[in-house]
Order: sequence, then C-alpha cells, then structure tokens
Amino acid sequence: MTDTETFLDGLFDAGVLIDTGVEGLYARSGRFEAIIEGIDAVVSAVGGGDGAEVLRFPPGMNRQVFEKTGYMKNFPQLAGTVHCFCGDDAGHAEIIAALDEGRDWAGQQALSEIALTPAACYPLYPLAARRGPLPEDGRLFDILSYCFRHEPSKEATRMQMFRMREFVRMGTPDDVMAFRERWIERGAGIVKTLGLEGAVDLANDPFFGRAGRILKNNQRQQNLKFEMLIPVESQEKPTACMSFNYHQDHFGTLWGLKTADGAVAHTACVGFGMERLALALLKVHGLSADRWPAPVRKVLGV
Ligand code: ATP
Ligand code: ZN
Repeated sequence: MTDTETFLDGLFDAGVLIDTGVEGLYARSGRFEAIIEGIDAVVSAVGGGDGAEVLRFPPGMNRQVFEKTGYMKNFPQLAGTVHCFCGDDAGHAEIIAALDEGRDWAGQQALSEIALTPAACYPLYPLAARRGPLPEDGRLFDILSYCFRHEPSKEATRMQMFRMREFVRMGTPDDVMAFRERWIERGAGIVKTLGLEGAVDLANDPFFGRAGRILKNNQRQQNLKFEMLIPVESQEKPTACMSFNYHQDHFGTLWGLKTADGAVAHTACVGFGMERLALALLKVHGLSADRWPAPVRKVLGV
C-alpha cells in the first residue's frame, strides 16, 4: 500500500473486496468470506451454550414494522425502502421513454410492502410478541441479517450493505442488564482472541436533526449504548465493531411484549458488525490471512 492509498484501495488492489462503482456496496472475495465465517464461528463458540433460538432474516423487513419502529422519524437519512412498479402499459411506456431520454423514472415507482432492514433485531420484536407473554426466564435469540444504511463512504468500514449478527435478550430489567454486562465482557474476550485491541465506550445512535440531539444526549445520560471500538481506519477515530444496547421497555411497550407475570418486557441486544470485525483483522494482521499469527488463524479456521 502506498502512502496515499486508502485502506479501501488496498483491499480492492488485493482483491479482498471488489468495487461495484457505488461507495459502500462491495462484492466479497472467497478469502473475505472465509474470515467472516471464522468470526461467525468464534461468536457461536462464545454464545452457543446459552440456548438461544436461531433465526436468520432476509435483508428486507415488513415496512409497517419498520415504520412503527420509528426508523423514518429517527433516522430518515439512513433509511432505504423498496419501491416497485404497479402501473399499466402507459406507465411502462413512460419508464421506457424516461430511460431512453436519461430522465428520472421514479415517478412510476410506488412504495412496496418491504423496507431494507436497518438493524438485525428490528424484525424480531413483533414476531416474539405474537407468541404471547415470555416464559418465566424470558427469551434469547441468535439472529443475523444483511442490513442497509444509506451512508455512502470512502471508508471501507462504513458500508451501505453489511451483516449484523446479534443476540437479543427479552425479560425483566435484571435479566437483560445481566445479559448486556456478560456480553461486554465476552466481547472483550473475543477481541483478544482475534489478536486485536479494543476499548468499550459509551455511545449514541445517529438520531437525525436538531431534535435528534436531545435523543442522543438522553441515550448517553442513561448509559443505554456501549460500543467496542477498534482502530481500523485510524488510531484517532476507532471504529465501532460491536454494540451493546439496552432498550429499556421501548420495544416491549411498542409491541406489547410482556413478561410471564404480565409486566412490560425489557430488551437488550449485542450486535457484531461482521464486515467491520473482518476489516479490523485485515488491517491489524495484514491483507494475507496465511501470514496471520497462528493462534488467530487457528481460531478462525483460515
Ligand atoms: P456507527 O456509530 O459507526 O455509525 P452504529 O452505532 O450506528 O455505528 P449500530 O447501530 O450499533 O452501529 O450497529 C451495530 C453494529 O453494526 C455496529 O457496532 C457496527 O459494527 C455495525 N455497523 C453499523 N453501521 C455499519 C456500516 N455502515 N458498515 C458496516 N458495519 C456497520
Ligand atoms: Zn439490536
């Protein structure tokens, strides 16, 4: 890598990620995917004994759930919604004419029933609530989804489409706080196992606009979000590679999720940014996994 070449350029040059012409939208090489699979296995090894119910989501979610979750109110700048053509022959002719003339053809598009999933756990809460009150000891889920966020960037670590693996705990406040504490410790253990260096810090979500500032402050004051920060793009601005979130009774109230004794359930989730963890490994240990430290290769199976 030359001095002026960015981390992303280096990944393209080495064929680890492949440019599609859109910032934040990359094809993954087999080598990259092998690292992702290794990370997935490490996370499974750490959390696998907890008896979590496994669910894997497609990259799109029910738009009504997306709306009710408040995503368009809180993060309109990041949202992606699927639009489709539901018109007639005249509408079709208009699309063709617009394409031929290089005009905008979006006028013939209408919102579909699907939105791109912005966080892996959003589709989960209504599914869990539909089952009725939680069992006595609550519930634990192991989920994964491709997520979309419209944040085009030249930083390799800020993608528009990326995978988020999460564990989500639902139960009493004590249950979910204990879960989050345990995962903050486990997260630090995973970072060490991968031969990386990270630090946990208080964080907030990127709530939009002036009103969002208050929400960000509230989130920080109440210690609701922590992140595992690992230097990837730079030492000065380390990258959030995991997050540990306590939602209080937010989703419980929104979806009518109750504990066994009828109280509103509390929830917490731990999220792993799969691509960011892979990129952290590539940054710290180098672009050729066959030259990584033996213990790291062993644990990842690469
Ligand atoms: P950031 O502050 O960097 O925007 P975030 O706090 O919005 O991240 P979360 O909403 O907590 O991130 O998402 C959970 C995890 O998903 C993050 O810890 C990160 O590892 C990963 N992630 C979030 N946004 C991106 C992205 N644009 N590209 C790749 N991974 C991402
Ligand atoms: Zn979550």
